[in-house]
Parts: sequence; C-alpha cells; structure tokens
Amino acid sequence: MRAALMYGAGDVRVETIPDPTIQQPTDAIVRIVRTCVCGSDLHPYHDLPVSEQGTQMGHEFLGLVEDTGSEVTTVKKGDLVVASFSFQDNTCEFCRAGFQTACVHVGFFSAAQAELIRVPLADGTLVILPVDTDSELLPSLLTLADVYGTGYHAAKMAKVTAGDTVAVIGDGAVGLLAVLSAKQLGAENIILMGRHQARTDLGREFGATHVVSERGDEGIAIVRDLTYGGAPKVLEAVGHRPAYDQAVGIVRSGGVISRVGVPQYEEAPVGFGSLFGRNITLNGGPAPVRAYIDELLPGILDGSVNPGRVFDRTIGLDSTSDGYRAMDDREALKVLIAL
Ligand SMILES: [Zn+2]
Repeated sequence: MRAALMYGAGDVRVETIPDPTIQQPTDAIVRIVRTCVCGSDLHPYHDLPVSEQGTQMGHEFLGLVEDTGSEVTTVKKGDLVVASFSFQDNTCEFCRAGFQTACVHVGFFSAAQAELIRVPLADGTLVILPVDTDSELLPSLLTLADVYGTGYHAAKMAKVTAGDTVAVIGDGAVGLLAVLSAKQLGAENIILMGRHQARTDLGREFGATHVVSERGDEGIAIVRDLTYGGAPKVLEAVGHRPAYDQAVGIVRSGGVISRVGVPQYEEAPVGFGSLFGRNITLNGGPAPVRAYIDELLPGILDGSVNPGRVFDRTIGLDSTSDGYRAMDDREALKVLIAL
C-alpha cells in the first residue's frame, strides 16, 4: 500500500510499504477513504529526529472495513466506519465512565495517512456511518475522529450550559469546533480569541459573538471588560504556556479553565495568585472522542451542524507532504486527504 512516512522534521514522503494484516482476533483492517493532517502532526514536523526507517503518521480516518478478526461482531466487510483517534475496548470501567482515553487497553493511532490501517479493538473503536462513500457529509463525519469531539470535550469539561458566557482561546480547528460545541450546548456569549481573520470569520459563523485578536495583557483586559470581570468558562485549545496564562488571566473567579490543547509545558502557576485564590477549577485532558460520536453524529446527518467546514483544502495521498507544508505555513487551516 501507499503510506506517508516522516523521516525527520519537515521530511514527509509517500512510499509503498507492506499492507497491514490482522494480528489479533479483535482487529479489523480498514481501507481508508478520507484522512487528514492534524495540528498535532505539526509538532513532529518541527522536531522529529532524522531516522533511516521513517515513521507512519496520522490518527484521523474513516473508511471501508476490508477484513475483520474472528472475534469482531459489530462491523463487517463493506461497512463505512469512523474511528476515534484512540482505540479502546469501550467496556472497562474507565470507558463506561466516559474516559476512553484512559481505557486499560488504550492505544493511539499513528498510521492513518495511508491506504489501509489495522484497527485494534475494532468493536470498541469503530462506529458505522449510515452514508455512502460519495456522501457530501464525509468531511464533517471525519471530524468525529478527533477535532469535533475534542472541541466538544472542552465544552463538556467546562460544563457549558444554556445562557453561559464562554471564552475560547485558539482559532485552529479544535478552537473553532469548541465554539460550535459551546453554541450547541446553549452558550449565549462566545468570545473567540484568535488572530487569523479567515478563521475567526468561520468562528463567527459557528457561533462566536465576539472576536478578540489582541494577546497578552491587552487581550486579557478586553475579555475581562467584555465579561464584566472574567469569563465563567474558558476553553483552551492551543497547548502552549502563553495560552494557559491567557486562560488564567481571563477566567472569572469561581470559573473553570478546560484545556484540550496538549500542554507543551509541565510547569505553570496553580497557587494562591493564579487558581487557588480565586477558586478556579482546572479541567480537561485528552478527549475521549469515542464517548461523543453517537451524540454528535445525528446533528451532522440532519445538517444542523457542518463541522467539516474546518477543512479548507483537499489533496490526494501522494501530496501529503504539501499538506503538511500548507498547514505549517498557515496557508491552510486543515487539510483533507481524499483517497
Ligand atoms: Zn476501556
């Protein structure tokens, strides 16, 4: 099969490698129909050490079941399915509590930018999509694999409810879909902090009522002014330390900071002057997107939401390297790969 491999920072090549095969009776093999490049793929694109053998990439995909192991019962050859970016049994106590990324059998995909992929724990991971492979809904359905569920998790962990005032930090795909999610959960005022106008314009279409492009102390002052003293719910969808500081700066006393941007830092203030003194809750983590697929699927199918709008470029698998470059140069918000 053809597959994208990264040989070091900035070096993505599409090559022919052996097809994956069933290794466990709970495995499935999926022929990928749509995959994409994630903002988190850009971290290794910046700093992956050079290697001789290369590393397969990608964790978001939907496709057709090609083969199943003997113990797989919920999907069969020919089903169109989407996978969460993690694989899990979906039956252990952590899965049942809605934290599939803490499953006792969890693993994470990293080989989805390819023609075929092996899916461990297929019954706990794959969800059948009731559409055909030529459906116009495929881009939106692909967002269920990660970015939509991750934005939704940010809003859920902040307990966003009707009438809420919410601030979202970050105008990448996850931040924009956190806006959409907050709107879906009934938020009335949604402040989007971001600097790229094409993206914040989409954020407005998704439900943002205010856009704040300023950063640092200036951005904090504007949000505190807009919210009469701070936002009760802050969704942080970046992961860098300045975004955390921004969140602490704009959150209202008694409020919640919900993080879904993977922290690129281990140390940050949590003491009296930052969180404790103002009774701030710090929440969030790796999104258990499998928990949300069933909940979010109907809105996509009936057209009430169109999260697939975050894809602003479509390429073929052989152009994957261009897709990384376009996202890294911020020419593209999110690149869809159609096979
Ligand atoms: Zn589990």
